[in-house]
Amino acid sequence: MSNLTDQTPSAGSSEETIAAIATPPGPGGIGIIRISGPLSLHIFQKIFSPRHKTETQDYESHRMYYGWIMVPDSESPVDEVLAVFMRAPNTYTREDVVEIQCHGSYLVLQEILSLIAANGARLAQPGEFTKRAFLNGRLDLTQAEAVVDLIEAKTDEGRSMAVGQLQGRLYEKVSSVQEKLVAMRAIIEVAIDFPDDETDILDHSALKQQLKDEIEQPLIKLIARADEGKIFREGISAVILGRPNVGKSSLLNTLLEEDRALVTPVPGTTRDTIEEFVNIKGMPVRIVDTAGIRHTSETVEEMGIQRARAKLAEAELVLFMLDATESLTEEDQALYSSVKQSSKKQKVLLVLNKIDIAPDTLPEQYSAALGSEPLVSVSAKERTGIQALKDRIFSLITGSKKGPGWDPGAAVVPNVRHKDVLKKGLEACRRVEEGLEENVSPDLLAIDLQSALSYLGDIVGETTTEDVLDMIFERFCIGK
Ligand code: GDP
Repeated sequence: MSNLTDQTPSAGSSEETIAAIATPPGPGGIGIIRISGPLSLHIFQKIFSPRHKTETQDYESHRMYYGWIMVPDSESPVDEVLAVFMRAPNTYTREDVVEIQCHGSYLVLQEILSLIAANGARLAQPGEFTKRAFLNGRLDLTQAEAVVDLIEAKTDEGRSMAVGQLQGRLYEKVSSVQEKLVAMRAIIEVAIDFPDDETDILDHSALKQQLKDEIEQPLIKLIARADEGKIFREGISAVILGRPNVGKSSLLNTLLEEDRALVTPVPGTTRDTIEEFVNIKGMPVRIVDTAGIRHTSETVEEMGIQRARAKLAEAELVLFMLDATESLTEEDQALYSSVKQSSKKQKVLLVLNKIDIAPDTLPEQYSAALGSEPLVSVSAKERTGIQALKDRIFSLITGSKKGPGWDPGAAVVPNVRHKDVLKKGLEACRRVEEGLEENVSPDLLAIDLQSALSYLGDIVGETTTEDVLDMIFERFCIGK
């Protein structure tokens, strides 16, 4: 092993060395700073003073060192740390990486980061470490996307799906279809090269069958799974509507106390309504309570409905609350007709509340006025009927009574981006199929096959354009 001063940067694909705080802001037990790129070790050596001076002879890869971060060329200590140098290529980015574990103080983290920056690194963009992992071939694009899904997962089901994708399940599925397409293209290319023997080389009906069974079918299955996946990955949005005092806040609280989903609040979001995630059978449901509206001076008719409408437009589900102890009021009717006007695509579930002090049958005048929406009777206060409400929400959204009809840990679940590209790939395959039926020339078949291949390449990141890549990595936090 070389002497410390001789430890030259090892090979990495990027010229620039990047650095970022990898732990969330705010005080914590430990804070981590990550450096990646050719100068990682060089910078580290400048600011780190190991406890055992003999260790300064060299730094072994993947070994933890104990010592102090010092302002270079001074006696000024910044923090007591543990640090590890990881030599390329066995690292997250496949570049030289240093991770420094210091005390979880924002000031300490900032100070260390600025020392690193002053010594040759630049601050990393959101997701830049993972982008490098992708560009350096350690992860395919579906795995890189899984990293952000894993970080953002709100329920166990969402987490399991992300882990499966991180293990490469979607990549394998797409690759296996790609292989079949490549094999088919090879046959067609032979036919192009030997036009006189084309009819012997191309067995049209066999090729068509193969296309359907081995290529289109797997694509169709993947596309179908994507919609279900979206529900468990991103969740749905529901809005609780009803006139003041029907029990909207009480219901939200009851749901939250039982099954609050794990969500990190996003700093800087302004809220005129209360929004929380509830975990309903693995489905993250963002529930919007418009109760806050009544605390304004305006009446419900004037502006409550207006704001509720804006929320309504984003929601997949409306929980329309009624008070079982009172008869239907004009306010109820006004709100309800505004829901019906604006919620063309939303599902509506009537929630008859306060059945602990009133009969849980919908008064006749309600049925006449509110049509034939599904109804669940609850007592938000006494917590009765809550399970039935959750079951009903789940079945309304997923069309199924139980959890997902598949094991999220084992399933291959494309996201919306994948789904769009899969659909285009499938269309290209169908054009090949038509071409085979109509005996078009092999050159034309080859063009559509190539287009299907390049769509699949977009999914795994082989042919993905720079702007799509930017969009994907912008979703990440800084330091990942
Ligand atoms: P909101 O204005 O629609 O958000 O209604 P709140 O949740 O603030 O409830 C209004 C009043 O109704 C409060 O006094 C609650 O305690 C009461 N309340 C809410 N749900 C129930 C219920 O299921 N049973 C009974 N008896 N009272 C309820």
